[in-house]
Amino acid sequence: MEGYSIYLPCYSIGHGVYEKVGKVCLDYGKSAVIISGHKSLAAAKDKLLKACEKDGIEITGILWYGGECTYENVEKLAADPAVEKAQLLFAVGGGKVTDTVKALGEKVNKAVFSFPTITSNCAGCTSVSIMYNDDGSFLRPFFITRPPLHTFLDVDIIAEAPSRYLWAGMGDTYAKFFEANMSSRGEELSHYVGLGVTISRMCLDPILDYGAKALADNKAGVASEELENVILAINVTTALTSILVTKDRIIDYNTGLAHAINYGLTSFPEVERNHLHGEIVSFGVLILLLIEEQLEPSMRGMFKKMFDFSRAVGLPTKLEDLGLTEADQDAVIDKALAMKDIEHNPYVITRGMMVKAFEDLKDFADKE
Ligand SMILES: [Zn+2]
Repeated sequence: MEGYSIYLPCYSIGHGVYEKVGKVCLDYGKSAVIISGHKSLAAAKDKLLKACEKDGIEITGILWYGGECTYENVEKLAADPAVEKAQLLFAVGGGKVTDTVKALGEKVNKAVFSFPTITSNCAGCTSVSIMYNDDGSFLRPFFITRPPLHTFLDVDIIAEAPSRYLWAGMGDTYAKFFEANMSSRGEELSHYVGLGVTISRMCLDPILDYGAKALADNKAGVASEELENVILAINVTTALTSILVTKDRIIDYNTGLAHAINYGLTSFPEVERNHLHGEIVSFGVLILLLIEEQLEPSMRGMFKKMFDFSRAVGLPTKLEDLGLTEADQDAVIDKALAMKDIEHNPYVITRGMMVKAFEDLKDFADKE
């Protein structure tokens, strides 16, 4: 077998984790530039500057990331004297900030450290940046050699963030468990893909156990242990899984049927405009489970569990919850069936299976 290397995330989580910045980062350099969004900077600035001052890390500048994760913004940042002068790049913010700084780190070959201020996805710990065009439309994923060298997850800062990000992030996180397991079923997996599929269980269990309480705590600004567990699932487990299951970047077990449904739904621009990615994907998970149940009736229990969870936390269980009606169903199914995400599965997913799953979900939701 050809030799290969895998770089996995490292992280600190809890109260006061910025206190560890010097201990973790000084091995790599003594000067850093902070790159951030406006809100995220306000949330983290005081703590981070205090920690850097205490440990003797010189801050060469504080820069706005540019408002979108584009190659153009990466170029602009690369030419900034504060970046040229810094040995380390500190990404402070959500997914778009972190993805911009990861792409910048790859370009200028400097060490990246991430400081997520919200929890909506695993950008802080993954080795891919989702690149956009200037107009905000999706361009392509940009694969990076390694994830940030270390991720600092300050639970007190994240507890103060708007709860809708965590709410939607939970849907995208447990989708990874269902999609990785479904798309790899029955296959002989390499060590790393097998490892990724196995640990994806931790994208589901902490959310079922602690998700509702974590969401309530996030709404109240309480940095609880339940919130910490859900942050770990969304940021860390998801990143570990996605790095491991992206086999040779050719066969990708990362996304599957639930994401294909998501693309079917977002072919309606108003769905894309008015709803968050993970929220829409969570609806796709319910359809995925109803299709699985058509071949394996024992899946009914898992479907019920996820349906009840969605209802409990207010994730969508009907097309109407996403602003669509039954009349839109055929168009959603047509688009989903045409997506690449649906191709790698243990059986062919037919139009008939899709129609039945949508009808089953409607009947079930109407009765509950
Ligand atoms: Zn997703």
